[in-house]
Amino acid sequence: MNITRTLLPMVLTVFTAFSICGTAAGQRNNFVLVIDAGHGGEDPGATRGRYREKDINLEIALSLGSLIRQRLSGVDVLYTRTEDRAVGLAARGDFANRAGADLFLSIHTNANGSSSPNGSETYVMGMDKSADNLAVAKLENEVMRYEDNYTTTYAAFDPSSTEMSIIMGMMQYAHFESSLEFARMIQKRFAADTPLRDRGAKQGPFAVLWKPTMPRVLVEMGFISNDTDRRYLFSDRGKEAIAEALYAAFREYRERNTTPPPAGGGEAAAPPPSVVREFYVQLAAARSAIPVLDNSWAPYRGEVVERRIDGWFKYALGPYTQSEAQAKLVEVHRTKFREAFIVK
Ligand SMILES: [Zn+2]
Repeated sequence: MNITRTLLPMVLTVFTAFSICGTAAGQRNNFVLVIDAGHGGEDPGATRGRYREKDINLEIALSLGSLIRQRLSGVDVLYTRTEDRAVGLAARGDFANRAGADLFLSIHTNANGSSSPNGSETYVMGMDKSADNLAVAKLENEVMRYEDNYTTTYAAFDPSSTEMSIIMGMMQYAHFESSLEFARMIQKRFAADTPLRDRGAKQGPFAVLWKPTMPRVLVEMGFISNDTDRRYLFSDRGKEAIAEALYAAFREYRERNTTPPPAGGGEAAAPPPSVVREFYVQLAAARSAIPVLDNSWAPYRGEVVERRIDGWFKYALGPYTQSEAQAKLVEVHRTKFREAFIVK
């Protein structure tokens, strides 16, 4: 196996603007979800000791995207970042607009000066007068100062101005209800499937939710500043449950907001034999596990599926139909995985 195990190099990669992964144009019938991992690069987000918000945000974003790609057909998952690099708040929204996204999900981790606040909350763009909500938005918006020309880019973004209140009122009219519906679904899943305290669906003037012109929410998964929340967020069990909860909320939202394709769509219950997805493109096998989010898997980081067979850890892409697998193999052979092959 010619996989060189590299430890997540925290390098700023600037060569590609965004990771469209060749699917941005997609089939226009597909539901387009943009997953936005908050912070990145020189902006770590909230930190406690060696725990950094930017890392957990990215890990959950990639896991969620991976679950959706594995389980749901008819959905294009796009990421604003798939690595540890800086992306401007406005640029994240612009990307979603250019991609014609149907839904925008920004993933964050909360923090407080006190270690007692805990739990998860999901925000929609809005002008709630609650001081707590404004404080969370203010903290998340502060990172715009990492950007060059931030005073020009965000000149029109002043939550305290009358003009802004009017603009926000208009935006609420367009997508407020759908955004709130998704925010409530996320909180419902968090409450049912994780021990995180449900702080509810809320409104706040978040800069990252300012530009996107589709339903959009910002989830604060838990508090990095609270010991119990932090331990859970950074545990394997916690990460898995959170990604699953977000997945379940997304699936429910999408089911309610799209007309299912004639084949049944959704979770591909019993497809006709000709489209059975039972083929994988195997990239590598190893005696010890290589995390699916490890950089060795680039450009398939977060997409690769691990299976344990006969004492081996096998890493593959899929599942695909036979013809999809053949097409994928051609693509994979152009990358460093020149020895990849198809398995059933
Ligand atoms: Zn954040």
